[in-house]
Amino acid sequence: MRVSICNDIILDFLNCRHKAYLKINCINGTISDFQKFREGSKEILKSKLLHKILSPPTSFDLEGTNISFKKIKFNNFDVSFDSFEVSEAQTGSTITPIELFCSIKINRTEKLYLVIKTLIFELVLNKQITTIKVYNSLFQEIKIKVNNEDRRIAKKLIHEIEHLYDSNVEPPLYQIKECVTCEYCERCLKYLKDKDDLSLLGGINISNITKYHNKGIFSINQLSYTFRPRKYKNNVIKKHFPELKALAIRESKIYIWNTPEIRNAESEFYVDIEFIPDEDLIYLIGVIHSYQGNVHHHYFWMDSNLGFEQNVAELLKLLFTSNDSVIYHYGSAEYQFFSQLKKKGYRINLDQLIDVLPFIVNKYW
Ligand code: SF4
Repeated sequence: MRVSICNDIILDFLNCRHKAYLKINCINGTISDFQKFREGSKEILKSKLLHKILSPPTSFDLEGTNISFKKIKFNNFDVSFDSFEVSEAQTGSTITPIELFCSIKINRTEKLYLVIKTLIFELVLNKQITTIKVYNSLFQEIKIKVNNEDRRIAKKLIHEIEHLYDSNVEPPLYQIKECVTCEYCERCLKYLKDKDDLSLLGGINISNITKYHNKGIFSINQLSYTFRPRKYKNNVIKKHFPELKALAIRESKIYIWNTPEIRNAESEFYVDIEFIPDEDLIYLIGVIHSYQGNVHHHYFWMDSNLGFEQNVAELLKLLFTSNDSVIYHYGSAEYQFFSQLKKKGYRINLDQLIDVLPFIVNKYW
C-alpha cells in the first residue's frame, strides 16, 4: 500500500529522501515521547495562531469556480495550505497562500517546501502566485516572494519527488542531523551500524562519502587504514579528519592534534546558556565556579522573560566583579549573549570570555 505525497512527505523529502520513501510506502517508525511532545506543542501553537490570525474559509470562489483548498490533488500530490487570501483586481483575481509556522524564522528548506506547494497550486488553478504569506510563532507576518530561481529549484524537486514515487526505488540512507528526532532512527541506525557506514563518523558530507566510495572505501574500518601521519605537516589544521577519527574508533584511542594551551586563572567560571531557539527565549543560565580548589554551582532559571533583569544583574555581579577571572564557554551563543548586554550598557569585559570549542573541535579525535 502507498499513500499520496502530502505536505509532510514533501518536507521529509527535502530533509531525507529515505524518510519520504518510507512514509510513501506506509512503513511505520517509532514515535518518541519527545516527538509526541513537540508535535503536540506545535498543534497547540498552530491552533492559537489560527484562532488569532485567521478564520479560514473551507473553500474560495475563483472566477466562478468554487475551489476547496482543504486538500488539493495533482497527480500523486495531495497538498494544502492553512489558508488563502483572494483579492479581486481589474487585471483579475490574485491568490496568496497562507501558512502558519511554529518557529520564528523560516529556513531555506521551509521556503522551498512552500514554493513546491505553491507551484502545485499554480498548476491546478492555472494561475501564477507571486507571494506567500507566513505567520510565525510570534504572530508576525512574513511575506515570501516566489522568485524565478526558487521556481527553477522547486520544479526540479517536484520532478525528483515524482521520480521517487514512480520508481519506488529505496534511496540510499546516511546519518544526518535530523536522524536524532526521526521516528525511523532506531531502524536506520541499526542498518548503518551493521554496515559500519562512513556517515556514522559525522562531519562528513554525502559528496565526500561518494568520493570515498569511488576509491573503494565503504566502511569506517576500511577508512581507518588510510591515515598516514607523515602526509600532514605539524602545523596543518584540518577541519575534518575522517581518517584519523576512524583510526581512533578502531583502536579505541584518543588522538590529540597539537596540544591546546588555554589561559587559566585562580577564579574560573564555566557558563552555559540554554535557550529555545524557536521562541528566542533563554530559560536557564548555569554557572560552575572554581576558586582555590572549591567548586560551586549557580543556576539562573527564567520563566518566560519574567525575572530576566534581576537574574542578569546577579549573573554579571558573579562573573565580572574581578578582572582576574576567566569565563569559559562552549560555542558562540554565550559570547553573543554577553556582547548584546554590553551594547545595552552593562559593564562587561569580553576579554575574560574564552570559547573552548576551537580548543577541542578538530584537535581531539
Ligand atoms: S533516521 Fe535519518 S536516515 Fe533514517 S529516515 Fe530518519 S532522517 Fe532519514
